[in-house]
Amino acid sequence: MPKVRGRNIRALIDEPTIAARNRAMAGEIAAAGYHNLLVVSILKGSFVFAADLIRALHGAGLSPEVEFLSLSSYRTGTTSSGKVKLIRDVESDVTGRDVLLIDDILESGRTLAFARKLMLKRGARRVAIAVMLEKPGKLAQPLAVEHVGFVCPDVFVVGYGMDVAHAFRELPFVGVVENPRPRNDRAGARGTRAQTRDGRSRRAGGESRRGSRGRAGYRSRREP
Ligand code: 5GP
Ligand code: MG
Repeated sequence: MPKVRGRNIRALIDEPTIAARNRAMAGEIAAAGYHNLLVVSILKGSFVFAADLIRALHGAGLSPEVEFLSLSSYRTGTTSSGKVKLIRDVESDVTGRDVLLIDDILESGRTLAFARKLMLKRGARRVAIAVMLEKPGKLAQPLAVEHVGFVCPDVFVVGYGMDVAHAFRELPFVGVVENPRPRNDRAGARGTRAQTRDGRSRRAGGESRRGSRGRAGYRSRREP
C-alpha cells in the first residue's frame, strides 16, 4: 500500500483502469455528436482527469477548445454545505456552442447544476457533463449526466487531482486515506470489511454506462 505524507493510501482505481476508461469515455463523447465543442474543466479537482480526457478526445478524433471554470462548493469537513461560488470565469463566449463540463466527482450535483445553468443562461446550445466518479444516491436535485467514468463508493477519495486540504492531488490513482487503526478497534475492523467485501472494490464498482437515461441504465460493466 503506498505511503504518502506518512499516511497509507488504499488504491480504489489504479492507473491502467483509469486510462482504459478514459479512452472508452472519449469514444462515447466522440459518438455523441457535439458540434463546435468547448470543453470546460471545473477547477480545481478535475484538472488531472481533464488533462487525460482531452488527450483521449484527440485520440478519438475530436478537436475541442478547452477552458477553465473555477467553482467552490463550500464544505464543512468532507460534506457539501450547498453553496456554490464562482471563483474564476471562462474567457470564451459560449453563445451557440456545445459545452462539455468536466468534473472529478458528482455528489450532490450542486456544482454541476450551477455550471450547467450558467452556461445555458449565456446561450450555450447544448451543455453536457462528463464526470470521472459518481457517488450514487446523493443528488440534491435531479441532474442528467451524460458521461460517467466510474461508480464510486460512499467514501472520501483522494488522488488523480482530488485533495484533502490541497494534498494528495498528485497521486496517479484514486485512493482512500487509511487511518492507522488502533488495536482491538472493532468498529474500524467492521468498516474495513464493508469496503473490501465487494471483490471489485478496486474498480470502485466498475465502469458505469449510465447516460441521461437515469437510474434504470445505471449498472456496472467490465472493460471489453
Ligand atoms: P457536489 O456539488 O456534487 O456535491 O460536489 C462535488 C464536489 O465535491 C467535487 O467536485 C469535489 O470537489 C468534492 N468532492 C465530493 N466528494 C469528494 C471526495 O470523495 N473526495 C474529494 N477530494 N472531493 C470530493
Ligand atoms: Mg470539485
